[in-house]
Amino acid sequence: MLRVAVVGSGPSGVYTAQSLVQQDPGVLVDVLDRLPCPYGLVRYGVAPDHEKIKSLQTTLRTVLEHERIRFLGGVQAGAGGVPAAGLRELYHAVVYCVGAATDRRLGIPGEELPGSWSATRFVSWYSAHPDAVDDGFVRGARSAVVIGVGNVAVDVTRVLARGAAELSPTDIPQAALAALAASEVTDIHMVGRRGPSQARFTTKELRELGGLPGAEVRVDPAELALDPAYADPSGLPGALRRNVEVLRGWAALPPSGAPRRIHARFFLRPAELLDAGGRVGGVRFERTVPDGHGSVTGTGTFEDIEAQLVLRSVGYRGVPLEGLPFDGTTGTVPHTAGRVAPGTYVAGWIKRGPTGVIGTNRPCAKETVASLLQDAPALARRQVPDDAVPALRAYGADPVEWPGWQAIERAEARLGASLGRTVVKLPDWRSLLEAARGGTV
Ligand code: NAP
Repeated sequence: MLRVAVVGSGPSGVYTAQSLVQQDPGVLVDVLDRLPCPYGLVRYGVAPDHEKIKSLQTTLRTVLEHERIRFLGGVQAGAGGVPAAGLRELYHAVVYCVGAATDRRLGIPGEELPGSWSATRFVSWYSAHPDAVDDGFVRGARSAVVIGVGNVAVDVTRVLARGAAELSPTDIPQAALAALAASEVTDIHMVGRRGPSQARFTTKELRELGGLPGAEVRVDPAELALDPAYADPSGLPGALRRNVEVLRGWAALPPSGAPRRIHARFFLRPAELLDAGGRVGGVRFERTVPDGHGSVTGTGTFEDIEAQLVLRSVGYRGVPLEGLPFDGTTGTVPHTAGRVAPGTYVAGWIKRGPTGVIGTNRPCAKETVASLLQDAPALARRQVPDDAVPALRAYGADPVEWPGWQAIERAEARLGASLGRTVVKLPDWRSLLEAARGGTV
């Protein structure tokens, strides 16, 4: 049997495991995750009100329950855990599907002020990631600025604009629900440095902003018109044209007087976060104009937008992995068709950068698995242990296997029932591990 470790149980890891067992009847896969819970960003990134995308967990579950796949949660690979060289001794091959664990930086003054957070930090908090801390995000805030116009920006904007009644039926953790229920944020400014025809969000996600109860989207037609494609978007590729059409539709609407307003802004480049008594008080943007080559140039004219909360949503970034090469420019591991070296592979965002939708990971995983299986005859000649768990324990890991994860799921259902809600996520390491080990929560 060929024994393979897949590091990471998000979509790219699960699709890699699936592709391996589908293509080779003689392969056994351990899917390792540093968390006791599987599914990566599907559990800890997809917004709680996106139940349809979250239901993808059912598909991922079926894969992880395959007889030749084993989930081992609570196993840290690399620094502070099982070193890359150690994993290579325990398995014939190791595939790293660890995603892009940090956020890109703006590199402008004031970025570190309290009240300015990466959107990924806010997402982790409302997704109950056990490493998340409550930064008091919405506490005391009336106006929020979201920098960036990708799908993460749309997610955080939407969560800020939703009322508690809409979030309560989701699995959002109780503390985040209570904080958002008490939120006094009335204005959310989602700001792009380029034009509406260059925004990265998808139309379905954008359109959703226009259908939120108690909120309205405001756009300034004069600002949109700075985009040469605005007057006649017919020459744009379909997805971009539809984005512009949705924004045009909103520009034509009179204000509805809804209690919360989403301001979709464009051609504003962040220049500085403004200090108001040691906390963020606003963002200074420079007005930009198209440069005719798809980018923008500054005009030297500035606009300040008041904000007690700033969420920087300018993309994720991969982090170096102990024992693997790393390209600091792209934040990815250099590879050829997923092969880093014979026996070591990558798939997902750490391979191709933080782009694409969940489904993009399927062909990406398939390509990596093809490379691995080409190498398999040579790799399988080496002796590896029948079961890696004792060695993983020797490295200090205490793996949470599938029954442990199922116990977490039951605890989350019990917690939900006790709060008069459906499933409610456990938000911290202690309660997750107690549930996994059969303790009480
Ligand atoms: P993204 O799509 O790459 O968007 C990043 C945004 O940040 C862009 O608007 C970009 O503008 C802007 N930006 C980058 N650097 C900036 C700077 N220095 N100053 C101002 N703006 C800056 O990243 P994302 O939103 O984090 O999403 C990551 C991936 O996850 C995407 O593939 C996304 O589709 C996916 N995702 C999907 C969903 C969903 O399907 N519902 C939900 C969440 C995430 P420029 O274009 O000008 O660089």
